[in-house]
Amino acid sequence: MTRIFYDYPLISHNTFGMDVKASVFAEFESEDDLRSLLTNDTLAPYLQHCIVIGAGSNLLFGSDFEGLVLHSRITDLTVVQETDEYVKVRVGSGYVWDDFVAWSVKQGYFGAENLSAIPGEVGASAVQNIGAYGAEVSQLIECVEAMDKQGNLRVFSNEECCYGYRDSIFKGELKGQYVITHVTYRLMKQPCWKLDYGNLHAEVELRGEPSGTVVRDAVQSIRKAKLPDPAVTGNAGSFFKNPVVAREHYEHLRDVYASIPCYPVDEKHVKVPAGWLIEQCGWKGRRWGRVAVHEKQALVLVNLGGATGNEVLELANRIADDVERKFGIRITPEVNYI
Ligand SMILES: Cc1cc2nc3c(=O)[nH]c(=O)nc-3n(C[C@H](O)[C@H](O)[C@H](O)COP(=O)(O)OP(=O)(O)OC[C@H]3O[C@@H](n4cnc5c(N)ncnc54)[C@H](O)[C@@H]3O)c2cc1C
Repeated sequence: MTRIFYDYPLISHNTFGMDVKASVFAEFESEDDLRSLLTNDTLAPYLQHCIVIGAGSNLLFGSDFEGLVLHSRITDLTVVQETDEYVKVRVGSGYVWDDFVAWSVKQGYFGAENLSAIPGEVGASAVQNIGAYGAEVSQLIECVEAMDKQGNLRVFSNEECCYGYRDSIFKGELKGQYVITHVTYRLMKQPCWKLDYGNLHAEVELRGEPSGTVVRDAVQSIRKAKLPDPAVTGNAGSFFKNPVVAREHYEHLRDVYASIPCYPVDEKHVKVPAGWLIEQCGWKGRRWGRVAVHEKQALVLVNLGGATGNEVLELANRIADDVERKFGIRITPEVNYI
């Protein structure tokens, strides 16, 4: 079934809470539905300007969207292969990501538990290469099924998705060209814990021996304490990516700022937490009109009520300029600006 709405309010479809409208908003429940939307003569004029959204938890709308917004309601979940070591699970792009993690933990499968409580849907997980607590979804993705604007389906192998830090081919070379319909994940039957990120190990220890449920619970609790709930305060999680910088540049900075943290990337590069850089520039907890930097997590920008996308962007630019002036590092947004 398809559903088509005109002049449609998007306020409940973006976690920043931007009060904007789409000329057309259309939902589909299957590949055939999606094809019928893409080849619908009435929608043809809008297809020139078309975006796909999931739960809108990594989007910032600058103004009304004069075009077509597509949203997947494909929510099937099927185990397509099982061995002694792993299962492969094919999931519809409209399935809520955290419901999938909850399902996998309940089944006793491993690999997704560190990615608990990340807002959004399965389709976007494969676009964004979501990550948290030392895990990235690309480590689980087997393949991604997507449809082009002419209605042709293509299966992308993990390699073809060109995954990088919060990055994929769907954000780069093929941006805006495909609608993801299904993602197949490979989950393990034996655990391979990743607990050495931040205070995760300590939180798990508090609860006893690690298990899927224990790790999920620990991650949920850390996130709840640190991140604002979008249902209460508009936000899109980390606004900026953690910058990857040359080791040489990092060492030079460390001579001046002895406590500057980093995570190794490769021999020549390290990742510096953008939240630390922002905090050092005095932005943590600061208000800028109707927007602010969250008081517990400097990476998160919040809508205090009634803000526009441009106000958020203005604050983001001021922060990035200050960080660049102080550290010679340009931080870039993780959030997709529409
Ligand atoms: C409180 C909070 C905490 C967060 N924490 C994390 C975190 O720890 N780690 C992390 O990685 N992210 C985090 N995020 C960001 C966000 O949850 C992820 O980026 C998530 O994957 C976005 O999913 P979504 O369904 O809301 O996608 P949207 O925001 O709707 O879309 C994101 C991008 O994916 C594209 N897209 C969506 N669905 C499809 C589809 N079916 N086909 C093609 N393209 C599609 C959109 O066009 C857009 O470019 C957080 C956000 C919030 C609000």
